[in-house]
Amino acid sequence: MADDLSTTIAEAARLLADARDVTLLSHVNPDADTLGSALAVGLALHRRGVAVRVAFGAPEVVPESLEVLDVAGLLVHRDEVPLAPELLVVMDTGSVQRLGPLGDRVANARGPVIVVDHHVSNTRYGTVHCIDEHAEATALIALKLLDEMDVEVDEPIARCLYAGLVTDTGGFRKAGPSAHETAARLLKTGVDAYSVTRPLMDAHPFAYLGMLSRVLAKAELDQGAAHGLGLVHAVVGFEDALGVRSEEVESVIDVVRSASEAEVAAVLKELRPGHWSVSLRAVSRVDVREVAQVLGGGGHRLAAGFTFDGGSEQVVAALKGALERVGS
Ligand code: 5GP
Ligand code: MN
Repeated sequence: MADDLSTTIAEAARLLADARDVTLLSHVNPDADTLGSALAVGLALHRRGVAVRVAFGAPEVVPESLEVLDVAGLLVHRDEVPLAPELLVVMDTGSVQRLGPLGDRVANARGPVIVVDHHVSNTRYGTVHCIDEHAEATALIALKLLDEMDVEVDEPIARCLYAGLVTDTGGFRKAGPSAHETAARLLKTGVDAYSVTRPLMDAHPFAYLGMLSRVLAKAELDQGAAHGLGLVHAVVGFEDALGVRSEEVESVIDVVRSASEAEVAAVLKELRPGHWSVSLRAVSRVDVREVAQVLGGGGHRLAAGFTFDGGSEQVVAALKGALERVGS
């Protein structure tokens, strides 16, 4: 039977109330939801005198657009994460594999492992499961936890949560009424929505325009793929990604998915030569989480991903094969 969320949140809050040392982890290639949630809870604990560190497995550096959320300097390099953490909190991470090189901390933790997540594919690793697959963002569950801990949610904490909420809901396009109400609560603390969202979602160095034009010029539309629902894809090769930040590479999918002939959009991102991370998006009818899972990945129904080793043609062939296998 699934754990009742209010019960597990209460248990997590109790554990955190007694904690002296807490390690919070985000998934590899962190986004605003995973890091914002970790930093919000981390900041609340830090203010209570708890020894706190926040980390992720890869890449080496913090994405520039997210670094500003770390007002208390809680982020540490992955090498500084204790091998056997006293109390571990894992944010927005559906499986241990998604922690990359920090995945071993789950098995090696000396105390409880609290998992705060909204992935339907969550494998239920760890010991306390604050998991709500209906939440539009992990930040919403993190806020429930903070409320249970009687934390005063002020602007610096609210900003971290708002960043997660606005990005995971696609700028509130996918947000329900209660997520909008939560957004209003967060804004009332003084969060300046535009100054949070512009660096996260809209602003890029000029070099982005050149990278985008090269990549989009080679985008392909296959209207027969996905049982005739259509696939559009673009390839960001290793060379294309040189000279831009991860933020620029990650935002390509938001342009590619605008092609209205395709139900499914994919962007192949070559992280190292021959090693690909693939972003998948669907409009409404294809469950891309299932597609990603066929290929060893995961995510949500309309936004998912997987990794693949090989040439870009092999990735596309594997993707088209998986699209044929899933649904009809
Ligand atoms: P994005 O395309 O923004 O990187 O990821 C979209 C969604 O898919 C996110 O929920 C993310 O956690 C998930 N995701 C992306 N790549 C992978 C992957 O390689 N493995 C798994 N399990 N999930 C992924
Ligand atoms: Mn999320």
